Amino acid sequence: MKPFTYESAPARVIFGAGSVAQLADEVRRFGFKRALVLTTKGQAALGEKTAARLGDLSVGAYPGAVMHTPADVGEAGCAEARRLDADCTVAVGGGSAIGLGKIIARDTGLPQIAVPTTYSGSEMTAIWGVTKDGVKVTGPDPKVRPVCVIYDPELTLRLPASVSGPSGLNAMAHSVEALYAENANPIASLMAEESIRALGKSLPVVVKDPANLEARGEALYGAWLAASALAQAGIALHHKLCHTLGGAFDLPHAEVHTILLPHACAYNRDAAAEAMARVARSLGVQDAAVGIYDLALAIGAKVALKDIGMREADLDKAAGLVVQNPYYNPAPVTRDGVRALLDDAFHGRRPAAA
Ligand code: NAD
Repeated sequence: MKPFTYESAPARVIFGAGSVAQLADEVRRFGFKRALVLTTKGQAALGEKTAARLGDLSVGAYPGAVMHTPADVGEAGCAEARRLDADCTVAVGGGSAIGLGKIIARDTGLPQIAVPTTYSGSEMTAIWGVTKDGVKVTGPDPKVRPVCVIYDPELTLRLPASVSGPSGLNAMAHSVEALYAENANPIASLMAEESIRALGKSLPVVVKDPANLEARGEALYGAWLAASALAQAGIALHHKLCHTLGGAFDLPHAEVHTILLPHACAYNRDAAAEAMARVARSLGVQDAAVGIYDLALAIGAKVALKDIGMREADLDKAAGLVVQNPYYNPAPVTRDGVRALLDDAFHGRRPAAA
């Protein structure tokens, strides 16, 4: 067995249909008295409802979160938390709401309780992200990891199929990279494999029948495991590609993950052969890259960067940005290699089978 280092952070996770009803108890349990509820604009009503659910324990709802957390959005969130003298945040929504909570935690020290309603997985990581001048910067800080996470599948029943599918593949990307990232270890790999199995099984049901609570629960369980695996093992080329494209060209986060993942798998196919075999086994397919591409098609997700707003003229710039400060990756990261990968992803080509 290969040597490894295993380190896991303490996590309080409450999982189950209807578990959001325990939110006030959790706020009290930590001794918080002035929770600021965070959402995106689109989930403002859910934020108001959550603040009302908290009653005297909340100082209000703030629907100011924006995808990729532009720097001024982070600053405005911090100012609001200070103005209202909040003593914690409660993010309800996807990675955008949780991402704002992380910046508030980083810059003001306020702890966050997360109630995720997508499969982005941000709630389990200690990684914050901010976008400034078209560049997304990410970094680790233990205080941005939420102190408590409430996973309630009932809150995901309204998540449209068009969001659920790519969001689920965003989660799967965490598991795929956890299997070959620098700090991969046997425990993270167990979680990653189980998560890929759960997501592969549940996502086709979720997009066909969004109100299927059983499938929603399994998808959320898969997302939790995926993010936990990533939090331990780290990330590699695929996440670097997604952060670069999302930040520099303002592309939708989950869709970028969905489109690039099969190509990142193909790129690492030989250098991370064991990880790829584990992905294929979890999905019950012959080849990880092809299997994930076919799954994306099966759940109606877009498979080409050209269909989500990327311009072909920007591919050279994107390849240059990706190789500037490359993350660890099993296969060497070369400009030509990345450029070819982006070309395949731009056109949405099906990866060749191994
Ligand atoms: P998001 O939070 O913007 O949500 C996607 C869409 O889903 C939005 O339109 C939102 O209104 C909608 N939505 C959310 N919950 C809903 C619900 N219950 N019902 C109906 N619609 C709902 O996007 P996301 O993909 O969840 O997160 C992306 C962001 O998270 C990016 O900024 C990304 O960088 C960050 N992220 C960070 C990490 C990390 O570890 N730091 C990990 C993953 C993602």
